[in-house]
Parts: sequence; C-alpha cells; structure tokens
Amino acid sequence: MAYTYDDQNIFAKILRGEIPNDTVLETEHTLAFRDIAPKAPEHVLVIPKGAYVALDHFCAEASDAEIVDFHRTVAEICKMTGASPGEGGEGYRGITNAGENGVQEVPHYHLHILAGRPLGPMLLMR
Ligand code: 5GP
Repeated sequence: MAYTYDDQNIFAKILRGEIPNDTVLETEHTLAFRDIAPKAPEHVLVIPKGAYVALDHFCAEASDAEIVDFHRTVAEICKMTGASPGEGGEGYRGITNAGENGVQEVPHYHLHILAGRPLGPMLLMR
C-alpha cells in the first residue's frame, strides 16, 4: 500500500505526549480521547497507536491484535458514553474520513464516535 505517514501530524504528537489530550480510554494498541471541537454532546476520537493514515491502510497493514484491540475499544467507548442501543442507549454514529474527497483533516486514522443527540441524515446532498 502506497501510504506515506507524516509523523508530524497532530495525533502523532498526542501519541508521543507532546500535546495534551482528554483521554477517555487507553489500551495497548489504541487511544480514545475527546475531540477538541465536539460536534455532539459526546464526540470521541478512537485512534490506533500505530502509524496508519486511513481506514483502508489500517485494515490492510495492522496486525490482528491491533485490529481487534481497536474495535474492542470502540465497543467500550459506545458503552462508556451510554450510547450503545445494545445497552439501552439512544445510539451513535461512527464516521471516518479519508483523503481529499473524504475531507480528512488529520492524516492519522481515526474513528469519530458521535452521540448524545439526534444526528440527522447521514449526508447532506448538495
Ligand atoms: P477529520 O476531519 O480528520 O476526520 O477530523 C479531525 C478531528 O480532529 C476534528 O474533529 C478536529 O476537531 C479534531 N482535532 C484537531 N486537532 C485536535 C487536537 O489537537 N486535539 C483533539 N482532541 N482533537 C483535534
């Protein structure tokens, strides 16, 4: 895969402890922290600790252990925020953006977990 990882991106700096973050959960391979500009009452970013640029990069090149750990962390975040419909919550949305058309701002793979209000239609058509 021809991805090139920029280790000066803001999430790489967060992982190195160079800038602070509001951590919700940390595991061996994964970090979950609050978005600095939340778009919903709950807005958590889940990122792998490894150097992956986007979802497809992560899925293609991460180890099984990293992939399992990431998704178990997502499940835990949905539970911790009270958003999981399986736990009686009112639901959430998971979003990941990639590249130019996806309007990805930070080139380190991250999954947005948004919850705490009705989130409206999936996309605006325009
Ligand atoms: P993207 O557009 O790449 O999918 O989303 C990047 C997200 O990172 C945005 O929602 C933005 O608010 C968030 N973000 C950007 N810089 C920082 C930061 O320094 N700390 C935290 N916690 N979130 C950030």
